[in-house]
Amino acid sequence: MEKDGLSSAAGVPIPRRSFLQAGGAASLSLLYAQPRPASGAAPPWWEREEPLRILDTATCYTGVTSPSPALEAARKASSGYNTEHLHVMGMAGGLDDQEFFFSCKVAGKQNEDYLGKYLPEAKKRGLRVMIYLNIHWFKRPFGEKHPDWLQIREGGGPITTLYGGPGTTFCMNSPGFREWVFQILRDLCAYPIDGIFLDGTSFRDDTCYCRYCQEQFQKAFGTKLPSKKKRQGKGARDLLEFQVNSQLSFMRDSRQIVKSSNPNIAFYRNGGVRGGNWATAKLNRVLIAEQDILGSEGGYLTGDLTRVPVWKPGVTARLLETQAPDKSRVIFSTARPGPWNFSQHSEADLRLLYAGTVANAASVFFFMYKPLLERPGMQALTGMNRFVEKNAAYYRGTRSEATTALVWSDTTANFYDGADAQLLESDRVSARSEVGNLDGEFSGLADTLLRSQTPFDVIDDVSMEQEKLDRYAAVFLPNVACMSEKTAGRLKDYVGQGGNLFATFETSLYDETGIRRADFALAEVFGVSDARKIVGPNRWDYMQPRAQSPLLEGWPRDLVPATLYHVSVRPKGGEVLVQYMKPLAGSYAGIPEPSDDPALVVHRYGKGTAIYFSGDLGNALNSYHFIEWSRLIENVLRDIAPSPVVVENAPRSMEVVLRSQQQGQRLLLHLINFTGEMTRPIRRVVPLENVRITLRTKVEVRRIQTLMRPQTLAAQEDQSGRIQFTVPLMNEYEVVVIEK
Ligand SMILES: [Zn+2]
Repeated sequence: MEKDGLSSAAGVPIPRRSFLQAGGAASLSLLYAQPRPASGAAPPWWEREEPLRILDTATCYTGVTSPSPALEAARKASSGYNTEHLHVMGMAGGLDDQEFFFSCKVAGKQNEDYLGKYLPEAKKRGLRVMIYLNIHWFKRPFGEKHPDWLQIREGGGPITTLYGGPGTTFCMNSPGFREWVFQILRDLCAYPIDGIFLDGTSFRDDTCYCRYCQEQFQKAFGTKLPSKKKRQGKGARDLLEFQVNSQLSFMRDSRQIVKSSNPNIAFYRNGGVRGGNWATAKLNRVLIAEQDILGSEGGYLTGDLTRVPVWKPGVTARLLETQAPDKSRVIFSTARPGPWNFSQHSEADLRLLYAGTVANAASVFFFMYKPLLERPGMQALTGMNRFVEKNAAYYRGTRSEATTALVWSDTTANFYDGADAQLLESDRVSARSEVGNLDGEFSGLADTLLRSQTPFDVIDDVSMEQEKLDRYAAVFLPNVACMSEKTAGRLKDYVGQGGNLFATFETSLYDETGIRRADFALAEVFGVSDARKIVGPNRWDYMQPRAQSPLLEGWPRDLVPATLYHVSVRPKGGEVLVQYMKPLAGSYAGIPEPSDDPALVVHRYGKGTAIYFSGDLGNALNSYHFIEWSRLIENVLRDIAPSPVVVENAPRSMEVVLRSQQQGQRLLLHLINFTGEMTRPIRRVVPLENVRITLRTKVEVRRIQTLMRPQTLAAQEDQSGRIQFTVPLMNEYEVVVIEK
């Protein structure tokens, strides 16, 4: 089966991932963008010059104009960047129309034409200039001048604070605001720029109820705008559809203006995150239709870093690849730990951020206040820029060789009570229930898969509903609670035909709008039924094995800590391997008695196997990391989805990514070493020596070489025909090229 495509010998781009057009429609289906058909046209600059190395010095906050555009451009280019987001509108504390440093008909004040002076200097140095345009954060007095543009909250009145200070936001459905933005776009595109990046538009968790939104909703759906507080059912679904359609319409009209001016101007926006996007209506799967590049803030690492997964940029990049397999993708990162904009990450953390991004087939973007560019620590990024520039050929037209998939469910994130939602950067709406924490569930399983050093893809609801799944030996479903009947049907077929599932907690217990079903849509596949109540929190409670199984290798025969919550179910055809004990009255309250609630149920269904864990195992792993729990995942992988890569003599804190080029004839093994000193920030990584790799491959290997510390490695073949080699030394990152 053809999985992904690569540039053919003639240089004609063909799709990187093919799709099964299963027919019929997905949830919110009319909106989902379909993959582009292959075209014979030469790729545009943003694809030709991948990986993009984008710099954003955020001068909108610290002063747009610089004494010398030449010096400015030279400094950026000499730091190894090939593209930038340039700020030409001053906006400390929010945007108004007073500080436009380019020629613009809607400018409130005429300033120096900095853009006109800067562009030739950037071009001279090979720097692509994309203009950063913030259209979600405005000064309050500017809002007061344009009452008709304001987003209105559900309870009435505009937004009055943003980013911890005063500010307001405008509505993309307001004709006056639209025309204002469109005029700015026309005027910017009159310059020889290379791209436009829109930061916004966006909704908030309690907007927008302005008169335009009310009128348009009434017209489209025949009812009044539903409350945004009600997160389930048809009303919530209609509201999300309306808001994402509003985003799409704004993007379409904007793009039309940009492209009619110059089709070689890249057009994209700040995209949705791996998280709940219902508040902002930034659904990447929909909005990608009107973008050339998909970008997300996967590298905005903020707050207590011990609570931020080291793999966040790379795993976000994997999700972006699923959402936009045939377009360029960018992970937006900051060079500082948020919210301290004048601070900086350690050099080790910068290199790890960078490596996690490019290893997972995305371009890099670094946001830094301009003074940071001068700091010696930023040489870490310059070094990585030079490395990627030199080895760019190994990053283009690659495909994933993963045979395991982990699901991130946007549908669940949008309609389930255990999901929180993103607003701006670290600004979030909390989940309405602490039961079934979706982010924790995903993170716990993602972390365990990474530590098992198994390459895996992150797929989503659309993949499950519409795309081929048979490239995967196993699909992991971390509490994918909300699921359409159609998706459940496709998963049944997948297992019936020999695929394997590992699912946790309330997976498939709700429909695609968050309405609870009487039983799991996948009950027949799981071999359980009768989902009753949720039990928990289990504070000091246990579970225990009930049968012997290779899946429980490494477990004691008696008590193992229980997960925090579980669904009380009954087996119906599935074999119960582990069961929960009855809750203890206190942690010293004696020996627990067995309950009737299964924890782990294994069920052979058709030619495949479903492994169902009734507890919130991922969430438990994310908090407590008990070894038995991760052993279970490792045993599952070993038995149903053995990794093509086996790593020895390296700690588990090394991420392994396996990709390929040339129809699988050249393998690219990316190794990212997150082994720090047991805290974050990571000040230095512990170098790894003599990392032994065993690789299952059909490629007839003639040559193995490393790129970071360039050398040729000797290969041996083991009895089962696998290739073995040793990487003598690595710090944060190494790429091993294995080819004919
Ligand atoms: Zn509105």
